[in-house]
Amino acid sequence: METLKMKDWGLGLGEQVVIAGPCSVETEQQIDSLCESFKGKSEINMFRGGVWKPRTRPGNFEGLGEEALPLLQKAKESLGIPICIEVANTAHVEAALKHDIDVLWIGARTTVNPFSVQEIADSLKGVDIPVMVKNPINPDMALWMGAIERLHAVGIRKLAAIHRGFADPYDKIYRNKPNWNLAMQLKLELPNIEIINDPSHIGGKASMIKDISQRALNFGMDGLMIETHPNPKEAWSDAKQQITPNELLSMLKEISFREKID
Ligand code: PEP
Ligand code: MN
Repeated sequence: METLKMKDWGLGLGEQVVIAGPCSVETEQQIDSLCESFKGKSEINMFRGGVWKPRTRPGNFEGLGEEALPLLQKAKESLGIPICIEVANTAHVEAALKHDIDVLWIGARTTVNPFSVQEIADSLKGVDIPVMVKNPINPDMALWMGAIERLHAVGIRKLAAIHRGFADPYDKIYRNKPNWNLAMQLKLELPNIEIINDPSHIGGKASMIKDISQRALNFGMDGLMIETHPNPKEAWSDAKQQITPNELLSMLKEISFREKID
């Protein structure tokens, strides 16, 4: 399967990327504060923000919705780096395209559903936008590959995968248990595909982010997506696993990327 590597997406990305930003876009103040911290920091290559949040049970913050998109556009102007968001249906895709979002990702709860993935893929026919596909909640290689193949079939060539771990109710350590073998096997099945690691949703705790990140880089993963919040304790979603921009920037200095290992 022919796919383009991140450095060929036309977004100024390198061989390995660091994606940072909040689990959920909450307020203008929150985004401004993150931009302030990341401005001029070349280690941060892409900004993420959750717009529509897939909460397991109702009654929690479900995201600002379309209201978040102008805030992310402002972040793009201020930081000069691409913005990525999760889309789970065609209305999300339409809104993202209207607001010049640079990169889309499909979340774990959507990758499990071929109907949803197909609808999203169909809405992207003829659109030149990179899409990253998170692994499904369950460790099913065929579902993960299938989602990537559905996007490829409508002409999307700027494709990457994201390993965010797999649900394992018997595991008491991880929020979503990593399966490094399965993730790296994807690279064998789809030889050009790059995989970003999401230590935030794997660990579920701020204290685990650094070790999981290093592990992923040692396995040869192509980047990291790390949830970052100016005040994690007060975050409206995933408060336990978010780290501050300063924590992220110092962690990035301490871990070894591929270039540094070679
Ligand atoms: C997220 O990235 O905020 C998210 C909801 O992730 P996942 O789809 O991996 O659960
Ligand atoms: Mn999250």
